[in-house]
Amino acid sequence: MIIDGKALAKEKRAEIAKQVEALKEKGVTPGLAVVLVGEDPASQIYVRNKHKACEEVGIYSRKITLPEETTEEEILKIIDELNNDPEIDGILVQLPLPKHIDPDKVILSISPDKDVDGFHPVNAGRLLTGQDGFFPCTPLAVMELIKSAGVDVSGKEAVVVGRSNIVGKPVSMLLLRENATVTICHSKTKDLADVCRRADILVAAVGRPEMITSDYVKEGAVVIDVGINRVGEKKVVGDVAFDEVKDKAAYITPVPGGVGPMTITMLLYNTLLSAQKRVSK
Ligand code: NDP
Repeated sequence: MIIDGKALAKEKRAEIAKQVEALKEKGVTPGLAVVLVGEDPASQIYVRNKHKACEEVGIYSRKITLPEETTEEEILKIIDELNNDPEIDGILVQLPLPKHIDPDKVILSISPDKDVDGFHPVNAGRLLTGQDGFFPCTPLAVMELIKSAGVDVSGKEAVVVGRSNIVGKPVSMLLLRENATVTICHSKTKDLADVCRRADILVAAVGRPEMITSDYVKEGAVVIDVGINRVGEKKVVGDVAFDEVKDKAAYITPVPGGVGPMTITMLLYNTLLSAQKRVSK
């Protein structure tokens, strides 16, 4: 069974739009500020897509485009203003930033209560210690996709390939929170295929085109492919060799059309959540 991320995203966005409408009736419009520094073409597309997705569900979106030569001090000042802006519930700084700007310093300057990307160490700590907070959108998307297949995570063997701060580690923590038995793999893991074959739930977040072949997959596993790898001029493939793995897996996400559309949806969700918290304060 192929898990259709596009269809799920459409369904979730319709639910979010309804909740945004309910907030507006109480006089509150959720607001997201997206800060883009420089002219990286991929970043420009991501920012445009986020802006469009906000509009579609009725979230106010403010795009702040800054020139490449903007100083760190100037960005920190803008973020400080956004932290104190009552119209803004979520602040997102599009990464990567130009080389002269320290991304850690910028992320630290965002108020943890407006950190809808979930990258602030306070939110990472909240995730680790089982508290409420904002958690990164791609890992949240992975969990939604697993749940949409009707799979109960509790007690399952989950293997995550990749340990980045934005995908591998947080998705592992979310799986652990839902009582999976989690193994985290990385480039130094020995006998990776053996470890992966233990998985009832296999999450690939590596960034290597079609590295996870059917040899890595247990019959009947749930396979979630986070990878986005450009091959050649136009083709995009995941980290999983979809054509051969789909016959072995019980459920699998395609690339494109799997995790990608759900990631932006979870950003909308986090922004809505932040606005709901503002109302209940
Ligand atoms: P990173 O490059 O930050 O991390 C990759 C991870 O994979 C590292 O932990 C690395 O190990 C591990 N790794 C690399 N090679 C191997 C190997 N041969 N065997 C085992 N592990 C390996 O990538 P991200 O986490 O940022 O992204 C992963 C993928 O997901 C990329 O394709 C990215 O484009 C995609 N992505 C998709 C998103 C979406 O919305 N769908 C959002 C974010 C990312 P080590 O730590 O030892 O170096």
